[in-house]
Amino acid sequence: MAKPVAQESKIAAGSSQSAAAAPVKRHISDEPITRKNWWKHLNFLNITLILVIPMLGIYAAYFTPIDKKTLIWAVIYYFWTGLGITAGYHRLWAHTSYSATLPLKIFLAAVGGGAVEGSIRWWSRDHRAHHRYTDTDKDPYSVRKGFWYSHLGWMILKQNPKRIGRTDISDLNQDPVVVWQHKNYLLVLTVMGLVFPTLVAGLGWGDWKGGFVYAGILRIFVVQQATFCVNSLAHWLGDQPFDDRNSPRDHVITAFVTLGEGYHNFHHEFPSDYRNAIEWHQYDPTKWCIWIWKQLGLAYDLKQFPANEIEKGRVQQLQKKIDRKRATLDWGIPLEQLPVLEFEDFQKQAAEGRALVLIAGVVHDVSSFINDHPGGKALINSAIGKDATAIFNGGVYDHSNAAHNLLSRFRVAVVRGGCEVEIWKQAAKENKGSVAHVDSNEARIIRAGEQVTRISVPHVAAPAV
Ligand SMILES: [Zn+2]
Ligand SMILES: [Zn+2]
Repeated sequence: MAKPVAQESKIAAGSSQSAAAAPVKRHISDEPITRKNWWKHLNFLNITLILVIPMLGIYAAYFTPIDKKTLIWAVIYYFWTGLGITAGYHRLWAHTSYSATLPLKIFLAAVGGGAVEGSIRWWSRDHRAHHRYTDTDKDPYSVRKGFWYSHLGWMILKQNPKRIGRTDISDLNQDPVVVWQHKNYLLVLTVMGLVFPTLVAGLGWGDWKGGFVYAGILRIFVVQQATFCVNSLAHWLGDQPFDDRNSPRDHVITAFVTLGEGYHNFHHEFPSDYRNAIEWHQYDPTKWCIWIWKQLGLAYDLKQFPANEIEKGRVQQLQKKIDRKRATLDWGIPLEQLPVLEFEDFQKQAAEGRALVLIAGVVHDVSSFINDHPGGKALINSAIGKDATAIFNGGVYDHSNAAHNLLSRFRVAVVRGGCEVEIWKQAAKENKGSVAHVDSNEARIIRAGEQVTRISVPHVAAPAV
């Protein structure tokens, strides 16, 4: 979001007309930056609005004493103009996440104009492209081009308006407040950005200069930087509780800086929700204001995604994280990859000295574990060459979940006719019943208590064919 008045006419032209006309001249942004042409890449209007004027403001502040009242006014006006962007430009016009009565619309269009970030029409068009084409070349402020590009670079360097993704703004073109503000943007910018804050401080307590420097210029600088953080910081810092395929992130620091726009992972997933923060304890003053305006009859039709849908997204993202973690663990050789052994061969190999134990139709080589067996060497040795299904599952000791997990790493073969294992193998072969137990990495999910070696009703012996 956020951008000064710059490029306005170009972008408006680019958005409303198709690229039909004759041979298209290469845009300067398509040329590499060289020592000869670097200045042609710069957008001097934007540089003036977002860098030069603030620097002059900082310089002027050096000679301008701070009046306490002016400082309080600057902070209040910072909140007003910030809300003009977050509650007005962003949540009302770019996302239509609620409806506003005419007086509220006029207020938001006015104070939003005072933030000096371009007209509602221009701002919302780019922002809709940002949501539709997030992280791609058609995203006007893609963070994939670097933190500083998404924060400032995209405004300092000229952009090819034809590169930015197309979006529908027909609803905005029919909103008289938006149309009026767009047509009279320079007037709105001057009056609401500089004249009004100066007048309040000047007429109120005689601090004309302080009003101009602090509540005007420097306040504009702070609001602009705060908004730019939504494009940079909110795509850079924090968690991704709803979806991690794209860059948006949730972080409380970004929320503090941006009047509550910091829960950006949620916002990109549920952009038409009037909230950014869904928990009561999260900082989202923009949401609180919209809610208060509703109580005052100024706002209505506040849109909210159902909690069920929000939680679905959260669970799916958690599932993805679990799958990733599961893939890093050793779950033993998959049953279907194990060789099939006749029962007699199993007995023969055990008699020849291999420490093989049969449990639930799966042959385990426990030689490396005999000395570590918590139940002692004698018990484990007594099971070698035998079907120990029953004794492992409670006949002697009902082994723990961890024991079943560990056992899976010792498996070396499956015995023909080996109870459930062969049934499972058959089902897997026929693709029956196996799908539900596979995660997004196509790996079989082994839940606690569902290991193949865990048999709820112990059986006595393995039936050899
Ligand atoms: Zn974003
Ligand atoms: Zn948005």
